[in-house]
Amino acid sequence: MKKWYPCELHCHTLHSDGGFTVEGLISAAKSRKLSGICLTDHNTVSGWEEADKEKELAVLKGIEYTTFDGHMLCLGTEKIIDFTDISNIDCTVKDFRENGGLIGIAHPFQLGTPICTGGHWDYKITKWENVNYIEVFSEGCPYLNTPNKKARALWHSLLDKGYRIAPSMGRDWHRIEGDVNLAACTYLCCEEGQLTGDKMKSAIRDGRTAVTTGPFFTFETADGFTVGDEISEGENIIEITLDTVRQKKIATTQNFCFKEIRLVSNGSKAVKVIPATEKNLTFNFEKGQWYSLELWGDIDEKTDTLLAFTGAIYVK
Ligand SMILES: [Zn+2]
Ligand SMILES: [Zn+2]
Repeated sequence: MKKWYPCELHCHTLHSDGGFTVEGLISAAKSRKLSGICLTDHNTVSGWEEADKEKELAVLKGIEYTTFDGHMLCLGTEKIIDFTDISNIDCTVKDFRENGGLIGIAHPFQLGTPICTGGHWDYKITKWENVNYIEVFSEGCPYLNTPNKKARALWHSLLDKGYRIAPSMGRDWHRIEGDVNLAACTYLCCEEGQLTGDKMKSAIRDGRTAVTTGPFFTFETADGFTVGDEISEGENIIEITLDTVRQKKIATTQNFCFKEIRLVSNGSKAVKVIPATEKNLTFNFEKGQWYSLELWGDIDEKTDTLLAFTGAIYVK
């Protein structure tokens, strides 16, 4: 049996430029009812030993490979990346993947230098098949602002080209101050039971992610397939889960008004739109296409915004 777990995939501590001790980060994550975190300090693994002492919260260890030309999240292997060698990004990425790691592009459209050095993704990756995920929502501004719109467009364009890449929300969590609401998070679909870093890693690798500003939102087909899976072409029924009770458990105080559910496919096209009150959706899935489910509505004073979305399901 599989279950969805709320996680934060991008965190810093005193081992780089964060304000948390590793222990402090873990307890902040627990108090926000998160089930797992990724420890991603800039270019260092020095916090890993402390993270290993944690027995309750799942911690997937990694680094944020931080350079002048972009930030990249490298998770789940002891392989050390030489961040001083940026001569060939495709080789760096491939080498890391071959050593069993996962690669994610952090905040690809953040304002770069001089606001945040290297925060804007300027590398030219040609082998996107080696990239596991992209932060489609990032930082403390998870709504449909310009960088997130661009990141969503980049993710969709790569899906259009046939790459199977998962979306994530990266809070880029540095410190507790000013951190009133858990603005958004990534849910990972994992084997039920005690969550572990290895289970988180498998979920990201298999594309089983969903991003939300609060409500828990995902789907399963009538024949039991979910996000990240491959299905056959033809008519299928999607059973939608929209759980506003779990939203409160991840400690957000925002007010939501759910309006529409959109089934989005190649070319970012909404191929079917239904009211958010609907519990299922019937659709004739086309060969070779990808599909992602999106929840649209209002959040506080922001109207017609993207509240939550799933990773893609793929049609053979
Ligand atoms: Zn960064
Ligand atoms: Zn970061």
